[in-house]
Amino acid sequence: MKQRPMEQIVTEAERHRRIFVLLESAYPQAGTGLRYDNPFQLFVAVLLSAQTTDKQVNRITAPLFAAVPTARAMAGLEPEELEPYLKSCGLFRNKSRYLVAASRMIVEDFGGVLPDNFADLTSLPGIGRKSANVILSAAFGKPALAVDTHVFRVARRLGLAGADSTAGVEDELKEKFPPHEWGPLHHRLIAHGRAVCQARRPQCARCVLKDCCAERRAAVAMADRSGPPQE
Ligand code: SF4
Repeated sequence: MKQRPMEQIVTEAERHRRIFVLLESAYPQAGTGLRYDNPFQLFVAVLLSAQTTDKQVNRITAPLFAAVPTARAMAGLEPEELEPYLKSCGLFRNKSRYLVAASRMIVEDFGGVLPDNFADLTSLPGIGRKSANVILSAAFGKPALAVDTHVFRVARRLGLAGADSTAGVEDELKEKFPPHEWGPLHHRLIAHGRAVCQARRPQCARCVLKDCCAERRAAVAMADRSGPPQE
């Protein structure tokens, strides 16, 4: 579909649509970098990914999943027995405790199967709102929108959200985009936050969204008001 010039886009809904389409073109392949074969393995990878890169998690989970492939196998271990696999991961002692405790709950309360709803997922140790939404979207294909630090920052800069909490930003994004776009939007905002709209130095001059970004437009308007630079 041919894009209309930005100056012809007048409503906020049109601006939101333009942002989605531009993100889609810029990051067509954006998705999770975590490797997993089933929902339980994604659950383990997501729990390990706090303060750790996806690449490092994948290095850890390859031998871990070969040795401890299921919730039942993990539930039968003590945290100290899991620690050697996780040693290269930040907070590995806490993560070992969470994984064993959560695996025991999965076995005892959910018949050994990772639950596929928000309330049960967030009842598991180590799983908060963001992680539960990642799992619901990626492992179960359910409409869910996880707000991490990149999504939070970029959505607010773009003027897609103004809330001060991740739950508030999640609600605002969900109001603006249809459920089938929540997962792709999550991945593309993360990709854009990493590649261009970085926390300390957003690279607005080369940003594909610069014409429809609220923060960029506010900065340009302020520069216009203050007149030309002094010679
Ligand atoms: S124009 Fe700048 S602030 Fe806006 S999304 Fe792009 S990089 Fe971020």
